[in-house]
Amino acid sequence: MREYAADWEALKRTDPEVAQAIAGELDRERTTLRLIASENYASPAVLAALASTMNNKYAEGYPGRRYYGGCRWVDVTEQLAIDRAKELFGADHANVQPHAGAQANMAVFGAFLEPRSDDKVLGLVLPHGGHLTHGSPVNVSGMWFNFVGYEVDRETEQVDMDGIEDLAKQHRPKVILAGFTAYPRTIDFAAFRRIADEVGAMLWVDASHFIGLSAAGVYPNPVQFADVVTFTTHKTLRGPRGAIIACREEHAKAIDKAVFPMMQGGPLEHVIAAKAVALKEAMRPEFKEYAARTVRMARALGDGLAEEGLRIISGGTDSHLVLADLRPLDITGKEAEVVCDEVGIALNKNGIPFDPMPPLNPSGIRVGTPGPATLGMDEPEGKEIASIIGEVLRHPQDDDVKARARQRVTDLVSRFPAYA
Ligand SMILES: *Cc1c(COP(=O)(O)O)cnc(C)c1O
Repeated sequence: MREYAADWEALKRTDPEVAQAIAGELDRERTTLRLIASENYASPAVLAALASTMNNKYAEGYPGRRYYGGCRWVDVTEQLAIDRAKELFGADHANVQPHAGAQANMAVFGAFLEPRSDDKVLGLVLPHGGHLTHGSPVNVSGMWFNFVGYEVDRETEQVDMDGIEDLAKQHRPKVILAGFTAYPRTIDFAAFRRIADEVGAMLWVDASHFIGLSAAGVYPNPVQFADVVTFTTHKTLRGPRGAIIACREEHAKAIDKAVFPMMQGGPLEHVIAAKAVALKEAMRPEFKEYAARTVRMARALGDGLAEEGLRIISGGTDSHLVLADLRPLDITGKEAEVVCDEVGIALNKNGIPFDPMPPLNPSGIRVGTPGPATLGMDEPEGKEIASIIGEVLRHPQDDDVKARARQRVTDLVSRFPAYA
């Protein structure tokens, strides 16, 4: 068999505008400090699978049960992805076809909930760290399904299991949803399981953000506790953009039917091949080291930001991300995002619990360490980054300060090259 590698020269000849933009993005990824908590650097092996001719194949159905001929090789890669996901997380069943996290979540709704019915889902409210697909009124989850929101505690800024238990007893939800998008602390999945059992609800965990940490054993693994777990493959798991659903055997048929044919058509077999590669990488010792570095660096970054005068939401982190309240420095999230971008640091503005400011100009920022940890950064770099951020946030108008900060960012990223 003769190999075929994606042909960069052909792209430059055929479409210089697209080629230039792709080169520009690569340059940005090499020269800036990427602290977006949901982003990472996929490996060259993952990118090679993504750019393969499996893109060309239609394979509606599942391995061994397809609606198209010629599925011999895509069956191999999809089965590898399924087997590896089951092994890595100890799952009974895995569906590796969801195109993205939002589609995986839609499949859970499709499998277990009746639209516009009395079925209730108990989930964390959006402003406290929930996700768009967890009942936002502008998302189909909120338009068609009946969400009851729980909040974090005002004092601890962590989810309050007693409050959730009371709400569960009061509302008798069909599904309880845990797993958030801007939540730094450990989630007590065992307590969620106990509450779900108490009220006869299913437990759904959306592990999109932290699943890579669970894979490495540095954060709890929700698969042991939940009926169904959805997760993206491109965040801490460091694979291609996409998602996977892991569930108990009793839900396997319902989940498979909900992904295809209820929500999706042909699976993205090149992406599924890349998911298989990423899952294999996640089983290696290097991945465990990356995950441990991610959490260590996030703690150092949070401690450093606290020393710079920011207020750290919930007082710290157990994961890959830190949420910080900027009000002590008298700067808003939006301004912070812009000034950090000017010095080569990509982070995002973020609401904080009980934020008095509007979502488009919130009081906080969210910073994450999976990308930098992939490049090899660790605690000292977390401290250095906190110092740079503190400096520019205290002097957002000072061009000399910003020029010095930009230089420190350049020095830092040149010591940890991406795609070298
Ligand atoms: C990122 C995320 C999603 C959505 O994933 P997409 O791939 O962007 O659709 C869903 N839920 C949570 C908790 C997330 O963090």
